[in-house]
Amino acid sequence: MNRSTSIEAYNKRIKKILITEEEIQNAVKEAAKKIDAIYDGTPILLISILKGAFVFMADVCKNVTVPTEIAFMTAKSYFDDVVSSGNVEITMDIKQNLENYHVVIIEDIVDTGRTLSEIVKILKNRNPRSFHVITLLDKPSRRTVDFSADISLFTIPDYFVIGYGLDCGEYYRNLPYIAEYNQDAE
Ligand code: 5GP
Repeated sequence: MNRSTSIEAYNKRIKKILITEEEIQNAVKEAAKKIDAIYDGTPILLISILKGAFVFMADVCKNVTVPTEIAFMTAKSYFDDVVSSGNVEITMDIKQNLENYHVVIIEDIVDTGRTLSEIVKILKNRNPRSFHVITLLDKPSRRTVDFSADISLFTIPDYFVIGYGLDCGEYYRNLPYIAEYNQDAE
């Protein structure tokens, strides 16, 4: 996928819609209700791992009713389109002192689990008041470390997926649904 790819080739790479916009929106509302119930009026800090979780973050943020602050961080664990690497590096950190916060991590997908388990270790060492992890997608069949999110909206098979914030070569993040990526398309 590059900037000179035709729109036909671009569309051909969207193999199949796995989770519709409506299904996502319904699940986000349910997840927001769970967050509201856990925190019961107590202020929270939502931390999103960019870029993949930015759309999910915005929707969760719009649906929770407890007082909410937001923060963003970036971590690098994928160095090309579809191959996972074991390295995790925090490339942009949050500024907040977590000792003052009830933290909710908003993640796009837990695949091998390496990225999030490393980030969780780092953030828990900063002694937040409480800590929960929410992921939009979970691919348990790919797990290489013992990690599970507190709330997971959808469990998916071992497909490379795009849309709703998730990219392939920086494209497809703007799709309102989750689709399987067609790795065989020209
Ligand atoms: P993990 O460390 O759990 O293997 O991978 C975490 C990161 O890999 C995710 O936050 C996401 O950015 C990327 N990733 C894993 N699986 C997929 C996938 O199916 N599609 C996309 N677009 N990114 C993925």
